[in-house]
Amino acid sequence: MLKLDFHPAGRHFLQIPGPSPVPDRLLRAMSYPTIDHRGPEFGALGRQVLTGIRTIFKTQHPVAIYPASGTGAWEAALVNTLSPGDKVLMYETGHFASLWNKMALRLGLEPEFLGLPEAEGWRHGVDAGRIRERLATDKSHAIKAVCVVHNETSTGVTSDIAAVRRAIDDAGHPALLLVDTISGLASADYRHDEWGVDVTVSGSQKGLMLPPGISFNALSPKAIEASKSARLPKAFWAWDEIVEMNKTGYWPYTPNTNLLYALSESIEMLLAEGLTQVFERHARLGEACRRAVRAWGLQIQCADPAVYSPVLTGVMMPEGVDADRVRELIYRSFNMSLGAGLGKVKGRMFRIGHLGDCNDLTLMAALSGCEMGLKLAGVKLRESGTSAAMEYLAATRVELPAR
Ligand code: PLP
Repeated sequence: MLKLDFHPAGRHFLQIPGPSPVPDRLLRAMSYPTIDHRGPEFGALGRQVLTGIRTIFKTQHPVAIYPASGTGAWEAALVNTLSPGDKVLMYETGHFASLWNKMALRLGLEPEFLGLPEAEGWRHGVDAGRIRERLATDKSHAIKAVCVVHNETSTGVTSDIAAVRRAIDDAGHPALLLVDTISGLASADYRHDEWGVDVTVSGSQKGLMLPPGISFNALSPKAIEASKSARLPKAFWAWDEIVEMNKTGYWPYTPNTNLLYALSESIEMLLAEGLTQVFERHARLGEACRRAVRAWGLQIQCADPAVYSPVLTGVMMPEGVDADRVRELIYRSFNMSLGAGLGKVKGRMFRIGHLGDCNDLTLMAALSGCEMGLKLAGVKLRESGTSAAMEYLAATRVELPAR
């Protein structure tokens, strides 16, 4: 039996960039009894979430929902659209782009990984101009897909997906556009149809505020067409049977019923707040967090203000300070989890998540924990980051809607 008797007073501050804290309303929805996934009630739930999720992706087309983590949905996007040995153009924005690239290699694809030299690379978003240039040289159209990460969770850098679409079109290239917005969906503006994305990959445990366990592929008609001749082996991930059965609100296998209850509730909450308001809330919290980091005199991992992430902020440590030691100290002292530096930036930075069910005071508590922990770790701070964030939040305060 799992030991659940560890309970320090108050709530744990889960300030990693996903999984994000699950609102009580979703936890309650998940506690409804599990029902027959082939029975009449289930179809209504299935139809409701399958329709609702389209509004979140901003698409008119099918969205496949898998009982899997985001990694599964990455694989689904590749195996449904591509054939062994196909060339794909990927872009190294950070750790998650690197993992997707590794997966493409393991699946027998031939990924080409664009990016910047090591030190700089993980501080910028996708340079769409480089994608256009590379595609323009591919006269035989050997490259079958362009894969980019919309919100690079390892660094706190976003990429301009509409610009990537334009780059593909300007090069007159037929490659499919595959986008990972696992940590961007329902936190940062995202438009599957308008931006001409062929497959959007996402997951439940970030902006949607669910626990980990379901993930998504939003499709375009061109992607569905490509899946009819794609030859990478696929069975569980294959869209055809899922999309067909989803028309009635059911799945070809046992779906994750209780997470679908939570998804239905999450969609209702997001639409009640309004997606525009949800994005504005995230952008404002991100700005407050960055003001704190600047006031501390520390560097933000994202070096380009045009693509700051509204989901998380990467905080770089001064030379000689081990970011993991600072995180550990903060965890033990203040019961707060921060995101670790991953891959190439391990130990050099930490990440503050400000996504999902997060408000002004959640962020202020997180920043207080960071400020106290940084001081305890002996990091010299220029001035109070919490004061800078409070001033900004007060000056831009948003009143609760009247009840
Ligand atoms: N892509 C991005 C941008 C992510 O943030 C993550 C997880 O954090 C993944 C892919 C992998 O998803 P999962 O860990 O749910 O398999």
